[in-house]
Amino acid sequence: MPAGDAFDRIGRAAFRSLILSATKHPRVQAVAARHGLRAGANRFVAGESPSDCRPVLERLHADGMRTYVIALGEAVHTTEQAVIAARLYESLVPEVTTWGRETTFSIKLTHLGLEHDPELAFQNARRIVGLAAKHSAFVRLDMEHSAVVDKTLTIYRRLRADGLDNTGVVLQAYLHRSVDDLISLLPLEPNVRVVKGAYLEPPDVALQRKSDVDAAYRQLVRTALTYARFTAVATHDVQAVRTAIAVAAEQESDFEFQMLYGVRYDLARQLVAAGHPMRICVPFGEDWFVYFTRRLAERPANSLFLLRNLMRR
Ligand SMILES: Cc1cc2nc3c(=O)[nH]c(=O)nc-3n(C[C@H](O)[C@H](O)[C@H](O)COP(=O)(O)OP(=O)(O)OC[C@H]3O[C@@H](n4cnc5c(N)ncnc54)[C@H](O)[C@@H]3O)c2cc1C
Repeated sequence: MPAGDAFDRIGRAAFRSLILSATKHPRVQAVAARHGLRAGANRFVAGESPSDCRPVLERLHADGMRTYVIALGEAVHTTEQAVIAARLYESLVPEVTTWGRETTFSIKLTHLGLEHDPELAFQNARRIVGLAAKHSAFVRLDMEHSAVVDKTLTIYRRLRADGLDNTGVVLQAYLHRSVDDLISLLPLEPNVRVVKGAYLEPPDVALQRKSDVDAAYRQLVRTALTYARFTAVATHDVQAVRTAIAVAAEQESDFEFQMLYGVRYDLARQLVAAGHPMRICVPFGEDWFVYFTRRLAERPANSLFLLRNLMRR
């Protein structure tokens, strides 16, 4: 096995698992809470309050980007916290839609109580998506760890059955099930975001080798661009971007690229300059830590950058 392949199989998985486990440690969380945003997390997160998003959105719009906003938070396990998260969106949607062109929203259903009470999460999502419809705004349901994929897709179907068409889902290419999920959604003419997948999943559920995930991603993008009503190609992977451009031209697909705030902005600008639509995800919130650790786990260099900054303090 070539050395690069061995790192691909063992090194990357071990690195991700190390980062994702280390950041569950209370002392790591305490240090991060004290220094994190200033020590590096503000590269990926607009700030802690909704108003922190405004200057970021304005800068991105001035560069020709579309945007979407997400209030960070997940794995909520009480009714009270789920209701607080829903209320936050209910004040966010009317506020943000007055600021900017083309700003949409994403929600994580576990933030709205999915793991605590799925019916409560549905009712919360329904209120948010219904309110967004009144403001001509779109709300996507992010996809989280594999244990909640079925529940998330069920809520998506229920929203659509209630006539809410201003909503979409996310499919994760690393999951063995995602092609089947896409096919089963096609009768709904879905708006899908296609991603590689950001969670630690076991081999019976998800592909483990990065090269396999990359290939599955390009294939899922190809299928979505061919059959879905609208595809958000969410990646910073240049090869996947090239595939998407070629397939979208061939199929005359309705699509946009999506990238995360703080990642490969050079590539985002190049794509916009070449006339491709690009939407940037702008996250904010006091619960930024878990989101931040996922960004660290995706790229070893990010963790070194954080460590260097923390050691300077
Ligand atoms: C808009 C958007 C929404 C997403 N929504 C979800 C979701 O709902 N559910 C979910 O599971 N996942 C989601 N993800 C995360 C996704 O699953 C991947 O973990 C993440 O995008 C990295 O994969 P990649 O496609 O960029 O490819 P990679 O092969 O990981 O990266 C390609 C290149 O991009 C750069 N890069 C990638 N990540 C980083 C980083 N963190 N820091 C610096 N450079 C980086 C590097 O140059 C790297 O070589 C989303 C991603 C995007 C862009």
